[in-house]
Amino acid sequence: MRIITSASEMQTLALNERRQGHHIGLVPTMGFLHEGHASLMRTGRQQSDLLITSIFVNPTQFGVNEDLDRYPRNLAGDCQLAESCGVDIIFAPTAGEIYPTGYQTYVNVEELSLHLCGASRPGHFRGVTTVVTKLFTICQPDLALFGKKDFQQLAIIRRMTADLNLPVQIIGMPIIREADGLAMSSRNAYLSPDERQSALCLHRSIAAVRNLFRQGENTVTVLLQTARDIITAESPATIDYIEFRNSQSLEPVVTATADTLLALAIKVGSTRLIDNGILGEEN
Ligand code: AMP
Repeated sequence: MRIITSASEMQTLALNERRQGHHIGLVPTMGFLHEGHASLMRTGRQQSDLLITSIFVNPTQFGVNEDLDRYPRNLAGDCQLAESCGVDIIFAPTAGEIYPTGYQTYVNVEELSLHLCGASRPGHFRGVTTVVTKLFTICQPDLALFGKKDFQQLAIIRRMTADLNLPVQIIGMPIIREADGLAMSSRNAYLSPDERQSALCLHRSIAAVRNLFRQGENTVTVLLQTARDIITAESPATIDYIEFRNSQSLEPVVTATADTLLALAIKVGSTRLIDNGILGEEN
């Protein structure tokens, strides 16, 4: 496995590979890799000749008071996990490599980026779509894998890829959870043992809503109250949003169906966590 930090070196290599007819897979990450990332890398391995994992804590997707400076990092550990998943290349540029002096070009998916996480994190998705576009042009992937853990991000990237006619197949991957149901996230490292216990209210509320839905309840106000009750009972968790959305359009719904997405964002102490589930699915 090679580690490349230069964008031009990465791009030259990728263009070369494509000229030889090789299929390139890309797993974009911010590092501090865990089994959620590993599932993307393992699937990417099966579907590509050259598998690239990018590790880049992208400054443009962090708000001014967010956790850019303290975001967990562990390049040595990341390399070990990536290698065990069969990754060929780690692309780990510096911020200056991606955004050199004078940089001023951004990609924005206008409507989908405004609500849910976009409402509490203005500019976040503009940073994501900008960096993903750059990673696509630098790494030249045929396919790119993203987790449904970040459901809105996946929807926005699908929209962007279609809108800009980008020749990249976007693959959405299931949420990987800890044994007790907590969705894996690099940010879980911030949680104290008590906070980690409280964070289980995310998964518990999704499970309770699904249960109620399976028993025939489809009124969103009722389902919402169930989720709200579970989270508010859990100090120090506070609700950012609990939303029921059409899983394709992400438009709000008033009557739930098996295809409805329940998306939640909470703060546990100072850590912001998100989770989601489609009501008719299991994970
Ligand atoms: P991040 O490093 O948090 O930016 O995540 C990089 C990619 O891994 C994104 O596409 C995430 O959706 C995906 N990912 C992160 N956590 C999980 C998880 N628990 N299950 C599945 N995919 C995940």
